[in-house]
Amino acid sequence: MCRLEGPVRDRSTLHTMPLRMLAWAVDHPGPVDGDPLARVEKPVPEPTGAQVRVRVRVCGVCRTDLHLAEGDLAPRRFGVTPGHEIVGTVDALGPEVSRWRVGDRIGVPWLAHTCGVCRFCTSGRENLCLDPRFTGWDVDGGYAEFALVEESYAYALPDTFDDVEAAPLLCAGIIGYRALLRANLPEHGRLGIYGFGGSAHITAQIALARGARVHVMTRSTEAQALALELGATSAGDAAASPPEPLDAAILFAPVGSLVPPALSALDRGGTLAIAGIHLSDVPALDYQRHLFEERTLLSVTANTRHDGEAFLSEAARIGVRVSAVAYPMDAADAALRDLRHDRVNGAAVLVA
Ligand SMILES: [Zn+2]
Ligand SMILES: [Zn+2]
Repeated sequence: MCRLEGPVRDRSTLHTMPLRMLAWAVDHPGPVDGDPLARVEKPVPEPTGAQVRVRVRVCGVCRTDLHLAEGDLAPRRFGVTPGHEIVGTVDALGPEVSRWRVGDRIGVPWLAHTCGVCRFCTSGRENLCLDPRFTGWDVDGGYAEFALVEESYAYALPDTFDDVEAAPLLCAGIIGYRALLRANLPEHGRLGIYGFGGSAHITAQIALARGARVHVMTRSTEAQALALELGATSAGDAAASPPEPLDAAILFAPVGSLVPPALSALDRGGTLAIAGIHLSDVPALDYQRHLFEERTLLSVTANTRHDGEAFLSEAARIGVRVSAVAYPMDAADAALRDLRHDRVNGAAVLVA
């Protein structure tokens, strides 16, 4: 379904009519099988200030897009275009841009803007900024032909990754990397990974390259096979007990009922990091079994630009393999349905 949105001009102003583009918009958040997204026309955005415009080549499909489409995350703006793993070519520059040139390949991530002056921004924790903006939530994202980004929030992308491989790095990769840092995995430690999709399969490779033993718990047998192929020590069902106690664990599946078994799987002093922006309710915990002996339970919230730069350079250095399933941009709704129903092994991406 296609409908018009944006300024309507009469014939006398036809010469100022902005060029229009096709985009997906969150139309009526709800179950993904009820088509919550609509294909719409929007004006091609014009960069101002320090913004650059990219022509979208590939946009990754992140679980956060699914939470937004299904209404788990309240939309911050009606009709916002989702998508925050954008690989594109710079095609127009705002007047204050100095970092990029037309033709550069850049990545546009989740973090679109931070205030720069709050107590978190000024203490190296811009991921906790009090007044942030996010791509594909506050500002239009990459399920479209064009998108805008403030120049200092875009990333240069290592040449070792093609467009399809690079897209999932921009959120799935970076968030997983921050989750790994937060999980406090010791050198050559034992890491548990709960859920094994776009983010987890990249994070597992970082941990393995650092010498960790990685145990993967996921209900998908295809994902278990991918985990073993990438070098995981074991792969079992979603709530299975790993074969050895864990120094650290990361919960990627948005499933609160996995928190107790993941905490039980920790060794004394271990840490469980929850990587997602949304989690179903966590059941009651038993203090003795789940938290005593200095087990730590913590969350991961967005990322700093420093996390992003550090991750992209490490991913390029160790040669992370990205398992991506490509869909045409026209099939964003089908990609979200497949993600919802665990039919994507690795990361889904939309190709323009
Ligand atoms: Zn701030
Ligand atoms: Zn994301």
